[in-house]
Amino acid sequence: MPELPEVETIKRDLEKVVLKKKIKEVKVEKKKIVRGDAAEFVKELKGGMFVKISRVGKLLIFHLSSGLFLLVHLKMTGQLIFKKKEKITAGGHNISNKDLENLPNKYSRIIFTFADKSRLFFNDIRQFGYMKLASEKEKTAIEKKYGLDPLSSSFTKESFLELLENKKGKIKTFLLNQNLIAGIGNIYADEICFEAKVRPDRKIDNLTKKEKEKIFLLCKLILKKAVKYKGTTFRDFRNAHGKPGGFSKFLKVYQKEKSLCPSCHRAKIEKMKVGGRGTRFCPYCQK
Ligand SMILES: [Zn+2]
Repeated sequence: MPELPEVETIKRDLEKVVLKKKIKEVKVEKKKIVRGDAAEFVKELKGGMFVKISRVGKLLIFHLSSGLFLLVHLKMTGQLIFKKKEKITAGGHNISNKDLENLPNKYSRIIFTFADKSRLFFNDIRQFGYMKLASEKEKTAIEKKYGLDPLSSSFTKESFLELLENKKGKIKTFLLNQNLIAGIGNIYADEICFEAKVRPDRKIDNLTKKEKEKIFLLCKLILKKAVKYKGTTFRDFRNAHGKPGGFSKFLKVYQKEKSLCPSCHRAKIEKMKVGGRGTRFCPYCQK
């Protein structure tokens, strides 16, 4: 699943190509993808245009000229593919050349056609992703359910320490909880814990203040760097130009089990389960 850096990359890439184009046609091939009434969905979108794209956690928010908002979540296998003649801007799960050749294909669930004949496809193999129209009020309510965004100015050391107060679970489970911190998934949680030298299964209530501050700093640092390099490609992510994300080369532990730790060069990276998720760590560096 794309995490914050990957979704942010899609947002930035799509902003360059889909804004201020009149939506001429909306085709819903799979009603299930639309949360709410599909006919109403089409009626509201037709004739309008996207004026801005924002993001909260892993959720994309397309602002419409009508004042409504189109919420888009890619979940496990969603892709957004924009095509203007032969020029393609695509992001999301596992985009291969085959996905881009014959559009629409059998996985194209919703198709937008703009006045200049360019098109935006929402493709999704497993159909966990969704699109939903929301009013300003609904959008604000949904945004409030998400936790702090590590790239926003409200993500401060104080707010982070406050969130950790009186928590009893494991640090990785905390980092993955979207209601507390929005946007961190399995890849970046492991990388953050590794750089902080803290085992992902450490109990929050026995972390020192220094360790908590380190984790805070690394959340910011690692996600910022990942956005700079347009995310991580791991089997299932290509940025909106269909290119692999450049952060892969900076990964230290994610999917590196059995290889030598790049920090201590003494121990091998191990794999365990934390909260049901495959988790990589160095048994020597991480306490
Ligand atoms: Zn190590």
